[in-house]
Amino acid sequence: MRDYCGVVGIYGNKNAAQLTYLALYALQHRGEESAGIVSFDGKKVSQQKGMGHVGEVFTETNLKKLKGHTAIGHVRYSTTGSSIAKNVQPLLINHKKGFIAVAHNGNLTNSVDLRNELEDAGSILQTTMDSELILHYLVKDHQNNYSGKILSIASRLEGAYSFVLMINDAIYALRDPYGFRPLCIGKIDGGYIVASETCALDMIQATYIRDIEPGEVVIIDRQGLRSMKQPQNRKHAFCIFEYIYFSRPDSNIYTQSVYLTRKNLGRTLAKEHPAQADFVMPIPDSGTYAAMGYAEESKLPLEMAFVRNHYIGRTFIQPSQLIRDFKVKVKLNPVRDVLKGKRIVIVEDSIVRGTTSRGRVRALRAAGAAEIHMRVSCPPLMWPCFYGIDFPTRKELIAANHTIEDIRKFIGVDSLAYLSLDGMLNSMLLSRDEFCTACFTGNYPTRINKPPSKKSLEKNRIPAAKKA
Ligand code: SF4
Repeated sequence: MRDYCGVVGIYGNKNAAQLTYLALYALQHRGEESAGIVSFDGKKVSQQKGMGHVGEVFTETNLKKLKGHTAIGHVRYSTTGSSIAKNVQPLLINHKKGFIAVAHNGNLTNSVDLRNELEDAGSILQTTMDSELILHYLVKDHQNNYSGKILSIASRLEGAYSFVLMINDAIYALRDPYGFRPLCIGKIDGGYIVASETCALDMIQATYIRDIEPGEVVIIDRQGLRSMKQPQNRKHAFCIFEYIYFSRPDSNIYTQSVYLTRKNLGRTLAKEHPAQADFVMPIPDSGTYAAMGYAEESKLPLEMAFVRNHYIGRTFIQPSQLIRDFKVKVKLNPVRDVLKGKRIVIVEDSIVRGTTSRGRVRALRAAGAAEIHMRVSCPPLMWPCFYGIDFPTRKELIAANHTIEDIRKFIGVDSLAYLSLDGMLNSMLLSRDEFCTACFTGNYPTRINKPPSKKSLEKNRIPAAKKA
């Protein structure tokens, strides 16, 4: 499972591109496939984009060329559109009224309809990304006022979007009416920053002002910061997975701390599913905070008996079976002297296919663990995400096709338990009604373009015996 994208926009700072670069560093976890920055100095637009990590795409030399007081940036994984250089964001176009650059986090659920409509009207789309559609609509709409254009186009978009746009000498930031993806605003030296997570603000010592509201369009230009609201008022559907796995623990998203929420999830998990054990350990890093909560609640010691190698990343290649066999140990090495003969509770943030967990459990057994009790800090993942998270198909989600007992056997643990849906929602610091939980329940908050029918999904059901 991979996350999707991170976006940044900076207005009113002579070092806009350098600050965007630092903010993208903080958001690297939201997309490791490509990175890009577009900047504007009042006369000239500059851009630097490429495949790879932020540290690989930008150099001292190319950053110096990104001049100006305004910049937007993007880090990406592909959820729609392929992983190719021309899909790297921000996308930039020139047209007779100036230029438009766009950075998008999310996934439009009516992109097939929008794409067909644009192509039928003669548009030639350059990329396979839904993010490009907004550019075409902006150029086609003949209103001169971009705020009005954006509001009218936003009313056509369905699904999840947090957009940051640079249009001539202004930044526009908008969030869908459900608020699926986070987006916040901060202040820096008389200028402004908008970013996916508050850790990007911390990175450049900006002061958090507030979140951009679901359905809000924020305009930042010479006149300062203004706001407009889309007319549609929807029930919020904040992605609960941002708290469980995706966002950085040092961020506040949807106004609340990811760190504290993850600890709450662990505490509730310990109340629902206690275990007789010698200690609790996390799968680092995303399971760490839930494991801390679990250990506190159950009054068991917390041990870091898996040590993570921080130097393995996107560039790790697996050219042969020999290297693939060592994959688990390359990322996480179990500490033999801590594990030997011990009964352990291992806290996972989630289980997707089960194969990664199985590899980790094998490594723990080989290191001498006597009993392994796995606790998962969310309910079973049963449904794919259509809002910008790269989940596998339902066919590949192990919990959609197997009982918990089948999964326990497949992973090879002595006991396995998941946090309940109520337990997860009650652990949130916001009201339980604020969240999207579709990947657990199948209750999608929006219409989905050509959703897979339950019947066709059932046809793909894998017999439990085969996997076990
Ligand atoms: S389906 Fe799951 S991952 Fe997707 S937006 Fe909803 S809660 Fe988040």
